[in-house]
Amino acid sequence: MRPVREWFSKEESPRHADPEIAGLFDDLVTANQILFHQGVLDSFGHVSARHPKNSDRFFMSRAMAPGMVRAADILEFDRDGIPVEETKHSLYVERFIHSELYKARHDVNAIVHSHSPTVIPFSITQAELRPVFHRASFLSPSAPVFEIREVAGARNNMLVNDPKRGKALAATLGGKNVALMRGHGNVVVAPRLRLAVSRAIETEVNAKLQLQAMLIGGPINYLSAEEAETLEADLARTKPADARGADRVWEVLKRQARTRA
Ligand SMILES: [Zn+2]
Repeated sequence: MRPVREWFSKEESPRHADPEIAGLFDDLVTANQILFHQGVLDSFGHVSARHPKNSDRFFMSRAMAPGMVRAADILEFDRDGIPVEETKHSLYVERFIHSELYKARHDVNAIVHSHSPTVIPFSITQAELRPVFHRASFLSPSAPVFEIREVAGARNNMLVNDPKRGKALAATLGGKNVALMRGHGNVVVAPRLRLAVSRAIETEVNAKLQLQAMLIGGPINYLSAEEAETLEADLARTKPADARGADRVWEVLKRQARTRA
């Protein structure tokens, strides 16, 4: 636990001078809390958001447990994952996931990297993670699996801790919304932070449901490509203010996370 005095000093630190960025910092803190309380992030994993006014930069906390992140812990990174301002704090060694994905995907404005547990079996077996319920249409037709051995060799530490590995992960993700990382976790991307949060939660939920369906046995009736395309097209037509429930998910889980904090 952080000493009480430090908690107070964090809370009292000045807000960012730009109100839009101050609001984004608030949302990043909330995203960390929600994902922690939903069991998507544990003591590890991270969530980032692209700078709304400088697309070559992004915001993410310093290296710490996600459930403890406060606005004062959020740092600004350049396109290569280097902090814009010098910092004495340690940084997430896997920040290159974020820098390389933002470089490769101009449509992406938020990224969640987690070790959400139920997803991992789908990264180490032949079973593909596929959408089994309507909220997971963004997974269609299936989530690709990143094999770190292909870029880092047999003797690797399983971490995406340099730009070369980040670039290879971005290549595996391609134009999709989710990629699994073999024996490690997954990465979820979205054009909005709140949508990235709901997708990260729904990826874990889908994995649970798919495993349950597999236990029942017999062929699984997955969402068809046509159904997933229709759902995603509906989402694309929806106003950003109500991205098919992402804001509803956000508001209710934000309240829940605050009462538990
Ligand atoms: Zn990781």
